[in-house]
Amino acid sequence: MLSHPLCSEARLTLLTLRGIPIRLHKSFLLLGSLYLGMESWNGGLSGAINALVLAVILFTCVALHELGHAVAARRCGLGTRDITLYPFGGIARLEGRPEPGWPEAAIAAAGPGVNLVLAVLALPLAYHELPLARGFVLINLLMGVLNLLPAFPMDGGRVLRSLLTLRSDEQTATEQSLFLSRILAGLMVLTGIFTHISVSLVGLALIWMVRRKAAAV
Ligand SMILES: [Zn+2]
Repeated sequence: MLSHPLCSEARLTLLTLRGIPIRLHKSFLLLGSLYLGMESWNGGLSGAINALVLAVILFTCVALHELGHAVAARRCGLGTRDITLYPFGGIARLEGRPEPGWPEAAIAAAGPGVNLVLAVLALPLAYHELPLARGFVLINLLMGVLNLLPAFPMDGGRVLRSLLTLRSDEQTATEQSLFLSRILAGLMVLTGIFTHISVSLVGLALIWMVRRKAAAV
């Protein structure tokens, strides 16, 4: 996910890649410890190790997603102040706003694009049943597809808005993309009723996020 605001100082710098600090929000340590504690309670040492490995894979994928945004932004002439990993995703803070249109669309699409490419590259390993490869493919597929949903505040919503600015002004493009986001979210809620409850839950979460985005416009 891409964002500009919202960044507390409660972060630890893990490493710096080509001038971009990659940070871990401290809330992750709290939730991570709780999660590991629960897994070790249920599954003993092996449960804790499995949970730790899964968490490392997940957050490596999130970091690579955010680096995708950062690399695309650099190609468009924008630097990245930092990347922060939160318990439920990451945020790349850019040094300014991308130009509406193709540059913004390319930067927004680059994150999920990285996940889809990683999933495809790891497919042969999953096919040969290499340990963890199937989980790696699934995590990246999910991250890529979910983030490409054309609804705010997902990356796909930003791609949609950027492409709409090619035909109209930014305000109109934002209103149109918010309208389309609501339709998509409503359809997901309905689809989930007849398929799987998780689809409805994603739809409801999208409705909530779209309302927040609309209130901020
Ligand atoms: Zn993203």
